[in-house]
Amino acid sequence: MSIPQRGLLLGALAALLPCISAASEARPNIIFIYSDDHAFQSISAYGGRLKDVAPTPNIDRIARNGIRFDRATVTNSICAPARAVVLTGKYSHLNGVRDNATTFDGSQNTFPKMLRENGYETAIIGKWHLGSDPTGFDHWDVLPGQGLYYNPEFKTKAGIETVPGYVTDITTEKSLRWLETVRGKDKPFLLMMQHKAPHRPWVSGPRHLYFLEDQTIPEPANLFDRYENRASAASNQAMTIANDFRPRADLKIYDPSEETQREDLKAYGVENDTPWPKWMYGNMSDAQRRLWYAAYKKRNADIADVVLEGADLVRWQYQAYLKDYLRTIRSIDDSVGEILNYLIANGLEDNTIVIYSSDQGFYLGEHGWYDKRFMYEESFRTPLLMQWPGRIEPETSTSELVSNLDIAPTLLDIARVDADPHMQGLSLRPILENELEYQWRDVLYYRYYEYPGSHLVEPHEGVADKRFKLIHFLISDEWELFDLIEDPMEMRSVYDDPRYRDIRRNLESHLEKQKKKFDVPSNEPLSSGFGT
Ligand code: CA
Repeated sequence: MSIPQRGLLLGALAALLPCISAASEARPNIIFIYSDDHAFQSISAYGGRLKDVAPTPNIDRIARNGIRFDRATVTNSICAPARAVVLTGKYSHLNGVRDNATTFDGSQNTFPKMLRENGYETAIIGKWHLGSDPTGFDHWDVLPGQGLYYNPEFKTKAGIETVPGYVTDITTEKSLRWLETVRGKDKPFLLMMQHKAPHRPWVSGPRHLYFLEDQTIPEPANLFDRYENRASAASNQAMTIANDFRPRADLKIYDPSEETQREDLKAYGVENDTPWPKWMYGNMSDAQRRLWYAAYKKRNADIADVVLEGADLVRWQYQAYLKDYLRTIRSIDDSVGEILNYLIANGLEDNTIVIYSSDQGFYLGEHGWYDKRFMYEESFRTPLLMQWPGRIEPETSTSELVSNLDIAPTLLDIARVDADPHMQGLSLRPILENELEYQWRDVLYYRYYEYPGSHLVEPHEGVADKRFKLIHFLISDEWELFDLIEDPMEMRSVYDDPRYRDIRRNLESHLEKQKKKFDVPSNEPLSSGFGT
């Protein structure tokens, strides 16, 4: 049971008002803006060390107009599985997508299908990443697979087409075009605008190639984590800034030992193929490639004659990584601004709920890492912001334990569509509307499968409440327990600390109960998949 901060009398009065108007109000439009690997640490509305050097003024508008979720989490911190959870409202073991290598079974029920059956016009534009063609949408226009940053292909019912430009801008333009000219104006709509950025290899758009060029990005306090006092999984991963970057693709470093590439760089690479992998950089035009080479000339010159080692190398690679990552975030922030401005200019702002989220969080040097997968906070959590004028009070925040399982039930609820009883999440509406009293969960269940995969993160499951987190690594059979008040950066497991014995037992009991509650089979595979 949760009691919101609002006073009793005010709450009681406010509770009377929506009853009068709700039935006659038009159902809201829904714009769900979803990015790929967007760390909440890089959204200034969440505060943190990057808020001044790389603010996100447009994403912050959603927080200012509405609510910020401070403990929004995912059930399985990796791309395709998270997308399947959002659509189905079910855990990976029930929707079938445990890892990035699995194709989504589009015949199963999803919230867009239910909205469409109940009078909504539905569209998805941008990154899809579920293998099969989208189902449940009147209009779909998606990137095949991971998609390309420059001049990407888009796939529709009519086939595949290459579109010139930068992927974030194209996704935004296609979304605005759908809002303006494609959709019928007689129905409420669902638009899922899903960006490729900021996914690896963090390729900046032309407008932001020089953003942060001369800045020094603040480091996290645990950039040089030594993985002591934890299970072996934290040491055994392959996602460190120190050792696990690909120099060309991730750091944009040209290999001077390859003579043809040296010549290519000198000429700003017009005649030959790019020295960076084509599948990552896409089909850059000559003009785009010239801009790209020019922008990375300084980074390559700086590193050409020096040998960096140890902490110096980590620091240099951290700066390179963060600058590229934050450049892609800039394009997302521009996109959000364009959508919000369109809603205002077209009188759609008042009856549209706008949601900003990511498929999961990401490490921006915390624990010395990039990537995701672990149940530690940076990748267990994901950004979640919502505005809905008149229904969500501006500038609010909540620390309730929220899950990406909750997106589907929430959007069905606010569209006044009966819930699917097989969905496993909760409607967030009582939190959004600041109801006086509501039942809420006090614990979250998590399960990660993909192994060995790209980054050797050991499969694990666990439970978290508002203060404590229990993690069981499934192959090594090692355990961790964290106290997030005493140790917010999760640097020291207290699993074997006798002072935490009762807490540990309580969470172990929760873990078993949660697995029963969510129908996790006893023969569930420990690991699954090799996708990237
Ligand atoms: Ca992702």
